[in-house]
Amino acid sequence: MQSARLPRLNLRRLIILLAMLSGLVTLGIGFYASYKVQRDSLIQSTLAANHAYAAKLADGTEGFFRSAQQQLAVSAEVISAQFNDDQVLDQEARRLRRQTDSFNAVIITSAQGRVRATAPNTGILVGQKLESPGARQALDERKPLISSPYVSALGTLVVLISHPIVAADNTYLGYVGGVIYLRELNILHSMLGEHFYQDGSYLYAVDQTRRLLYHPQPTRLGSVVGENVAIDKVLRGESGSLRVTNSQGVDMLAGYAPSPAAGWGIVAQRPTADTLHPLDDLMLRVLRETAPLAMITLLCIWILARLITRPLSQLAQSASEMDAPDSAERIQRIRSWYLEVAQLKRAMQVGITLLHQRIGKLKLDAQTDPMTGLHNRRGLALALDVLSASGRPVGVIALDIDHFKRINDSHGHDVGDEVIRHMAQLMKTCSRDADILCRSGGEEFLMLLPDADIESATRVAERLRGSVEQERIPVVEHITISLGIAVWPEHADNLERVLKLADAALYLAKQRGRNRAEIAEPDAAIS
Ligand code: GH3
Ligand code: MG
Ligand code: MG
Repeated sequence: MQSARLPRLNLRRLIILLAMLSGLVTLGIGFYASYKVQRDSLIQSTLAANHAYAAKLADGTEGFFRSAQQQLAVSAEVISAQFNDDQVLDQEARRLRRQTDSFNAVIITSAQGRVRATAPNTGILVGQKLESPGARQALDERKPLISSPYVSALGTLVVLISHPIVAADNTYLGYVGGVIYLRELNILHSMLGEHFYQDGSYLYAVDQTRRLLYHPQPTRLGSVVGENVAIDKVLRGESGSLRVTNSQGVDMLAGYAPSPAAGWGIVAQRPTADTLHPLDDLMLRVLRETAPLAMITLLCIWILARLITRPLSQLAQSASEMDAPDSAERIQRIRSWYLEVAQLKRAMQVGITLLHQRIGKLKLDAQTDPMTGLHNRRGLALALDVLSASGRPVGVIALDIDHFKRINDSHGHDVGDEVIRHMAQLMKTCSRDADILCRSGGEEFLMLLPDADIESATRVAERLRGSVEQERIPVVEHITISLGIAVWPEHADNLERVLKLADAALYLAKQRGRNRAEIAEPDAAIS
């Protein structure tokens, strides 16, 4: 019997679900952890690399400024002695320009800022007075300087590195200046530009006013960079690395280092997205590598779950059909390969034995007459079914106690009962084990004798009749019985009919004076 509302979820599904869930969670956590570790290490190594680049290039820049200043200092000293000789100045300007690639142009001015010599031919005329901020600063401060970027007389963005020219008597004569054109190929391009990589990393340089001195995008040169923490730090003279959002709103991994000589800051950076991009491929590969293993693991889990749940679900199935006749064998066949199943199996076997015993007893009770222990009418019906089905011949004896009413009337009902019990006992004594004895009514009985023919049935009937007649019964002393005999298949073609014929024969025996046995008349069709 099954209740209508059993849950659909079963143990196997639950175990598989649980195992898959824990597997997936573990895999997910492992995957995430390895992603995070690799991501952090990628970010850290990129930051460190960018810092190293920035520091190296700041060093280079610093070195360049120092050597440029030194060259200018040497020139200033050389020309201070012959400052009146235009030819000397012109030669020195040209030599300086040629000697190194440091400057895009060289100029030498007087103390009033008038150009004394220039190389190469830049369009600035000798004698022209320079009014640019760099020129004015050099004249005002009269010391070695690296200017902020400014727009020169020729309209280009430049930086001026200058050194004062001082005569032997300490009179200020003017300055010698190296000009770097920021928008043209210059020393910064060759120094910083070679570190511009295909992988998206690049360098830039800013001065104290946050103006871009070098940037791979030429259009941005000279522009002032907005909010950027890396620039704030580098312009404070700090050196380090940082994940920043740059002024363009791009997430960057930046390394920075200052070049104190000019107060410049060098920043090397790479977009974080570019840095992390290879990680996606890597993680995809990890996923592809682990997928077959995960599938095999899942398969193993499924097989194991089947093995574990199989005996349990078999037990559960048997439990829902405990009343089935073969349930004991079915439970016996279940393989109990682990403790809990073995315990459940044993408990169910004990339970089923008890249940079957109870059912058997109930069936027996329902088929037995409580007063005599003989079959009642229901037991008789079952016996008839079995005997009919077997096809074996059956002898039937119907019997009834003579004048039983009188016994009841004379001695009371209890004595009558006692006589009935006594009668049953006599029937048992006079029959074989295979014979089926029934109390078919108050003091009426039936005997079914398997394999008996008319002769043997008559012998049994006569023996019983004689025994009853002979028996001394307490209180009533003696009783007699009348009997009717019929045999299947001799008397009729079905057992019910044979029973009726035996009854008829019993009636005849009563009519013929009682205490006797009569054999039935066979049905017309039979004889
Ligand atoms: P006959 O020889 O014709 O059979 O006469 P009889 O008196 O036996 O008549 P009948 O068979 O008709 O009567 C049966 C009586 O048995 C009727 C009833 O009062 C009595 N009886 C039926 N069942 C029981 C029982 O269980 N216990 C007792 N004490 N009496 C019963
Ligand atoms: Mg009777
Ligand atoms: Mg009677």
